Amino acid sequence: MSIETRPTPETNTVESSSELIRLEQVTKRFGDNTVLDHLDFSVDAGKHVTLIGPSGSGKTTILRLLMTLLKPDEGTITVDGQRLFPASDKEVREVRKKIGMVFQQFNLFPNMSVLRNITEAPVTVLGMSKDEAAERARGLLEMVGLADKCDARPTQLSGGQQQRVAIARALAMRPQVLLLDEVTSALDPELVAGVLDVLRDIARSTDITMLCVTHEMNFARDISDQVLMFDSGRVIESGPPEKIFTEPERDRTREFLSAVL
Ligand code: ADP
Repeated sequence: MSIETRPTPETNTVESSSELIRLEQVTKRFGDNTVLDHLDFSVDAGKHVTLIGPSGSGKTTILRLLMTLLKPDEGTITVDGQRLFPASDKEVREVRKKIGMVFQQFNLFPNMSVLRNITEAPVTVLGMSKDEAAERARGLLEMVGLADKCDARPTQLSGGQQQRVAIARALAMRPQVLLLDEVTSALDPELVAGVLDVLRDIARSTDITMLCVTHEMNFARDISDQVLMFDSGRVIESGPPEKIFTEPERDRTREFLSAVL
């Protein structure tokens, strides 16, 4: 894991050989609003990295850049040594297969069964046989505690159940990276714990790399190898959760944590 942002040159940079995601000098503007300003940041394979910080500080924009839902104005992004930006459409399609994302709104296909929601992309994008995709989907549904919901429609499920299907759907593509964008923000409070428990399990029992934006600080503390504190599109502080949550160096981090904890 290494972090460096140009406006805070005192931030330490530690080079690493097992780097999976790398953003170099990434700038993203919306009109005259510079949301990310020459951001450098990398994530090692298998690590769980959480982005925290105030609303509007650019956290979701980073996930959306990695999902190629947005393009940077400047800079380079690579995943597993392959270019995601700048890159040809073909290169982007290849790299995208390595990345799964779970959104705030579950974005399931309402007209398909739960099982079909999960098998659709492995069959159409990866060319997996329907039988193999269905067998894997059943295994994933068991993992997220929904083995009995194969034939249900998403609308018959609670928000928490729908989000667990969305997690299974992302994992069905066997991604190397799982991006989690405030996945519990749209849920009723009593449904949050079930989703976070599933994610804790995945973090513990798989070697998938996780990049997570969350306001659930206890969850962040539990699963993260590294926590990055964002403010105004910059990483102002980073470190292991025990350091960031108990002895942050920056006043801004302390202020933010005291407001959310
Ligand atoms: P965070 O995830 O930290 O809350 P975001 O990455 O969602 O922050 O947003 C960072 C900034 O970018 C905000 O000022 C937001 O208003 C702006 N922004 C995000 N998406 C768009 C967009 N599609 N068009 C215009 N501005 C946007």
